[in-house]
Amino acid sequence: MTDVTQRSARRTAADTEPMVLAFDVVVTAVRDLTPTFRRITFGGACLTGFGVVGDTLDLRIKIVIPSEGRDAPDIAAMMSSGDASGWYQRWLGLDAADRGSMRTYTVRESRCSGPRPEIDVDFVMHLDAHGRGGPAAEWAAAARPGDKVCVIGPNASAAQCRTAGAYGGIEWSPGLAQHVLLAGDETAVPAISAILEALPEDIGGHAFLEVPDGQDIRPIRSRSSVQVTWLPRGDRPHGEHLEAAVRDAVRVPGWVSLSGRESANGGGEPEDVDIDRTILWETPQLLETAIVRSTVNPERPPGTQPFYAWIAGEAAVVRSLRRYLVRDVGVDRKQVAFMGYWRKGRAEQA
Ligand SMILES: Cc1cc2nc3c(=O)[nH]c(=O)nc-3n(C[C@H](O)[C@H](O)[C@H](O)COP(=O)(O)OP(=O)(O)OC[C@H]3O[C@@H](n4cnc5c(N)ncnc54)[C@H](O)[C@@H]3O)c2cc1C
Repeated sequence: MTDVTQRSARRTAADTEPMVLAFDVVVTAVRDLTPTFRRITFGGACLTGFGVVGDTLDLRIKIVIPSEGRDAPDIAAMMSSGDASGWYQRWLGLDAADRGSMRTYTVRESRCSGPRPEIDVDFVMHLDAHGRGGPAAEWAAAARPGDKVCVIGPNASAAQCRTAGAYGGIEWSPGLAQHVLLAGDETAVPAISAILEALPEDIGGHAFLEVPDGQDIRPIRSRSSVQVTWLPRGDRPHGEHLEAAVRDAVRVPGWVSLSGRESANGGGEPEDVDIDRTILWETPQLLETAIVRSTVNPERPPGTQPFYAWIAGEAAVVRSLRRYLVRDVGVDRKQVAFMGYWRKGRAEQA
């Protein structure tokens, strides 16, 4: 299986290379960062073929967790046989026990260009008093060095070519904005941390991270002047602190005043999203990534800065913040990424 993965990664016809590859990785380290976060490091020679151009930011991957006592399915073989894009249907067609469970995670850190390529993923340990949670959380709780999973992620070699925008695993796209808002719960902490670490000096704004407990607060290194606020939840409802913080920080329409003196004018009601049936995922047009940061935007009112917001976490909380920002504040939807990372009471569908 590793051979198939490596063969795929070595292909050189850039335009025809798959954007996504399956990497058969092995757990090389397990470390509890805080009561909520467990960092699992994955390694393997195949990871030399993993990566994107530039910072990983909020890069998402899929992890295929094998069923107990089974090997991970051979996704690399499914990708290399027949129509490459049909691998997902082929995987869905397997018996449930052979299929395992596919879940979405963020690459907290990638070190794939060195002699021992590795990626770190920070798992939220959402387990009940009996140690029961979803397949991913339960797998992470029991993970030991040597355990194997399959990671589906970007093909570094395809990412180098000009047509590489298609991977689509990175949503952070602030365009010209120098004033940003990042808001998320614990599942978004890995992404927000990686984004903050990559931001340059001239970016300001706010980052709000709601976490279960004060012990989950960790230092984040950032050259930016974004003000980072941790919001330990304690016994308050999920999202309560996050919503209050965002409402307090954003009271003006899409353009954020340097002086902070603008008044709010509302926008339209965003169409409702049935978060129990579909994924809430609304992000600005990819075109924004093509904007050169030094370009002068002719529509920008004097004395203001373009604004960009990135919001992720439990879907009901994200939906409520979407309604507030779009309807009540009037923020242009092209300036905000709203992402339901998980839905309370519902397993990720895969
Ligand atoms: C783009 C993206 C990036 C993500 N990055 C990360 C990441 O880096 N780290 C991370 O931990 N998660 C991350 N998530 C969230 C993660 O995919 C979900 O939490 C996922 O449901 C976990 O799978 P599971 O098998 O443990 O639980 P599932 O089988 O999906 O769910 C089982 C039950 O657990 C509940 N549940 C799921 N997640 C949580 C939670 N966090 N807290 C409380 N209850 C929960 C569900 O509502 C359901 O009732 C990300 C999601 C997306 C879409």
